[in-house]
Formats: sequence, C-alpha cells, structure tokens
Amino acid sequence: MSVALYRPDAVMVWRNEEVVKRLRWYRSVMLNRTPAKFLLLKTIPVEMKLDETSDEDLWKLNDDLHEEAVELFNKYFEKRINLDDLKIVEPSFLDLKINLAYRMLRKCHFCEWRCGVNRLEGQKGVCKLDYRGYVSSFFHHYGEEAPLIGIEGKGGSGTIFFASCTFHCVFCQNWDISQPRGRIEDAGVDTDARRLAAIARRLRLDGAANINYVGGEPTPNLHIILESLKYLDVNVPILWNSNMYMSEEAMKLLIDVVDIWLPDFKYWSNECARRFSKIGSKMEYREAVTRNHLIAAENGDMIIRHLILPNHLECDTKPILRWIADNIGNKVLVNVMEQYRPEHQVILKPELYKDIARRPYREEILEAYSYAKQLGIIYEPIS
Ligand code: SF4
Repeated sequence: MSVALYRPDAVMVWRNEEVVKRLRWYRSVMLNRTPAKFLLLKTIPVEMKLDETSDEDLWKLNDDLHEEAVELFNKYFEKRINLDDLKIVEPSFLDLKINLAYRMLRKCHFCEWRCGVNRLEGQKGVCKLDYRGYVSSFFHHYGEEAPLIGIEGKGGSGTIFFASCTFHCVFCQNWDISQPRGRIEDAGVDTDARRLAAIARRLRLDGAANINYVGGEPTPNLHIILESLKYLDVNVPILWNSNMYMSEEAMKLLIDVVDIWLPDFKYWSNECARRFSKIGSKMEYREAVTRNHLIAAENGDMIIRHLILPNHLECDTKPILRWIADNIGNKVLVNVMEQYRPEHQVILKPELYKDIARRPYREEILEAYSYAKQLGIIYEPIS
C-alpha cells in the first residue's frame, strides 16, 4: 500500500508554488537534479598542506573557499549530472572542514557552551561526550514535515538519532537518549565516520528523501558527520535538525554542507531558556539562536519549527513569530507545532513547572496560528 495514502499532504505540498520556491535547492537535490553541497565540496581543491597550516590560515581559507563554493552551487543548480563526472580531489574543501572540526575538538567549541575541553583526549563537557558519537537509532521517518518525507511520501526522511544533547530540556520527549540517566554508552552504539556513511548510504539507496541528523543534538558529533561525508558516495540532501546553539565557527563549517536546515526555535525569553533548557553559558540563547538562523537562512533552505508551550504565547511564541516575519519570513517555511505534552522533569517535578504541566489549550493553539497568519508566515502547507 502506498504511503501517500497516509500522508496526502506529501503530495499536495509540492503543488504549492511558494513551497517549491522556498525549498528549491533541497527539492532539486532530493530529486537528484543537483548534486548535494557536500559532493561539490569534494571537487574544490585545497592547495595547502592541511596539517602544517596554522588555524588562522585554515579559517581564512575556509572563508575564501566559501565564496567559491557558492558560485559552484549556483553553477550546478538543476544540472543533471552523472556523479562519476564529478572530479573528486584530495585534499578538498571538505577535507579542510574535517581538519578544522578535529582542531576544534581539542578545545571544544562546537556550541556556545564553549566548554574548551580536549575531547580527543577523553575530556567531556556539558554534552558528556568525548570524541566518540553514539547512534541510538536510524530509520525512514514518515512523521516529519510533508516536504521532508519525499515526493508522494515515499521513502520518508532518513533520520539518524544521536545520543546526548547540548541542552537539558525539562520537557524533552527523547530524554532517554538526550539525557540518559545511566552511561551515554548505553544510549547508543559507538559509530565512527565510516559506519555513519554506511548508514546514510543504505537509507538513501532504500529511498530516503534526505539524511536527517538529529538527537538529542547533532552538533557535538560535527567532526564525525563531516568526516562521514567523505565516505558517502550517493547524492542526498543533508538536513540539520538542531537546537541551533552552534558556535559561529561550527556554523562556518556547516553552511557549505547543509542543504536544508530544520531548526527548533524554542524560546524568545532567555529566562525561559535558562529555566526549561538549563542554558547557563556566557552566550544567551536568543543571541546565539537568532544569529544562527540568520546565517543559515542566508545559506540554505529552511523549515523552522516552533513548539507552542502552554502559558508562553506572549513571552515566547509571538515574539519568535514576529522576529521570523521581520527578518527571514520571505525565505523560510515555519511549522508552528501544537503537540506539546508534559514529559520528563515536568512530570517528575510538576511543582517546579506548573506553567507547562499541561497540554496547550485549543484557544492558545488557534491564537498562535492566527498570529502567524496575520504576520504572513507560511505554515499551513506543512502540517
Ligand atoms: S559540543 Fe558543546 S557542550 Fe559538548 S563539549 Fe563541545 S562546547 Fe561543550
């Protein structure tokens, strides 16, 4: 039986011209009309000896080659090519990014916690990960937004769940993998770059519309994900499904690799971010996340998720929607989500989290939708 019967929206969504326009790069890669960004990076040569070059020079080269990469992306947009025709070089721009990611790992600043620990030597920061990454599960996900599960809903989103997270959300629905009570090793299988590439390859060959890196949070696994792309030899859109608390340096590595962003924009109020996600680093939530949304929207297609929290329309939902409308509303799609339910710490300590210890009322959901509509935000086509 066709999956399209269960998700008719996956058929209808591509009849919406605005969706096609806003997701044009992603759609073209998904349909194999355009090579994914990571494949094109492999064709851009690097003339330096990577291991003998200073951090500063490598970052400068990363910035310079970004411009070259953007030109290449435009050149190849909607060009049907045989992957065998792409001339892979070594070292390439992708190798440069992998090298920089491993350098960052020695004083980890993948995210704005900037723990500064040497994860290569086994030290651990807030995410409690050393250099290893743990995959909890991977499968064809048919519950993602309509554009993400493939044309006519066939294939689903090739979703790879990593254990651990840079946030500690008190209402996390995936707390068993994002904040496991026991050892992180028990929440997933130690997965190196080659294994990760093999998983992604299998998912795509079995019809996945994209490779959806999520968790927990993919950010602490940035080095493994980038390196896995070196071994990935099939064309597939790379999807970054994230809390968007990456450092600016991590964003510089990602912008030339990610074909479609799927950010989870949770809060406007930094106080809510501290209270519900335990973010207490030097950089406030809103500052980091708005910066990263701007960078990402400038460099790729994007569907922003926002989960409505009960009693938090005025402090979070409305200002977030207003900011999106004012800054990137003409480029992105937004999914205003209504499925919040109390979970994890909210159930264990309801006295601390009374305000979010229930599902949102119907009136709150309708008010959020109506506000998004007033702002001209496109959310309806992606249920
Ligand atoms: S990924 Fe973030 S939380 Fe984890 S060690 Fe690095 S800076 Fe810290």
